[in-house]
Amino acid sequence: MRGFLTTLAPGMALAITGFAAPSFAQDEAPRWSLAIHGGAGTIARENMTAEEDAAYRASLQAALDAGARVLAEGGEALDAVEAVILLLEEDPRFNAGRGAVYTWEGGHELDASIMDGRDRDAGAVAGVTTIRHPILLARKVMTDSPHVMLAGEGAEEFAAEQGIEFVPPEFFDTDARRQSLERMKAEQLSAIDVDVKFGTVGAVALDTQGNLAAGTSTGGMTGKRWSRIGDAPVIGAGTYADNRACAVSATGWGEYFIRVGVARTICARMQMGGESAQVASDAVMDDVKALGGDGGVIVVSPAGDAIFSFNTAGMYRGRATSGGTSEVAIYGDE
Ligand code: ASP
Repeated sequence: MRGFLTTLAPGMALAITGFAAPSFAQDEAPRWSLAIHGGAGTIARENMTAEEDAAYRASLQAALDAGARVLAEGGEALDAVEAVILLLEEDPRFNAGRGAVYTWEGGHELDASIMDGRDRDAGAVAGVTTIRHPILLARKVMTDSPHVMLAGEGAEEFAAEQGIEFVPPEFFDTDARRQSLERMKAEQLSAIDVDVKFGTVGAVALDTQGNLAAGTSTGGMTGKRWSRIGDAPVIGAGTYADNRACAVSATGWGEYFIRVGVARTICARMQMGGESAQVASDAVMDDVKALGGDGGVIVVSPAGDAIFSFNTAGMYRGRATSGGTSEVAIYGDE
């Protein structure tokens, strides 16, 4: 696949059925391992200025470094995942936290989830509008409530009890995302047309204790209505972690990821079918493609493999390991 992706015209990525193979060197058996993403989509060199390209890489590297630091110091996979996502939620370039896309009504509804591979404990929030860091609230749902998923006003009521930081809804307003909504309405486009890329953020990690964790955070899809919820907060679709199998975080057209049960299916194939992370992920992304969906996943295995699989032209991504790997990438051919 490498090489030919760059020759595609913008918009043609949706027709691609293959996968961009990771080109980073793998360690033999890393003691810790981390993979991150900032969304997949029609991300082509010809559509990016040198400044944008550099800014995205710097943001990804900073987030990767934050997570890697936690792991290198012997910290927990969950804390590494949280450290990565906190930075990306704060960065308006990504469709999570501050850079969240607009709903049809002109607001923002944020979704996030986190999962602990040790005991498959999980927490998720959907449709929150005033929570600065949805990933922190998702973690609180996991650790301080008897539930896995809370939504809307109830989730915010719980957040208030937990001392979670609130911001006014306008905190999430950005010109770029507003223009996407306006274009969508004016030209009667779909979210796929105007979003160009899915800017959801996520991280998966293996720590030195051998524990896996995964987390995902998003603003969803531009122009979403009727309290639409995508895959990001759905455990088993956008996020999954099981020490016996793998940790996965997804980005893409959420409806398809929910229908396929992407994250859980990748882990199940690895655990029960003995497939490698790459083989399992490519097969599941192929399944998504066959239904008409697109996007990508990041996966870390118990052995420390950190892989990417995406059926779009590019994916904002990075990975780091105890073996010294620390790299970020954007386009499918790198
Ligand atoms: N998966 C997200 C959703 O469907 C969108 C994204 O990945 O950016 O809500």
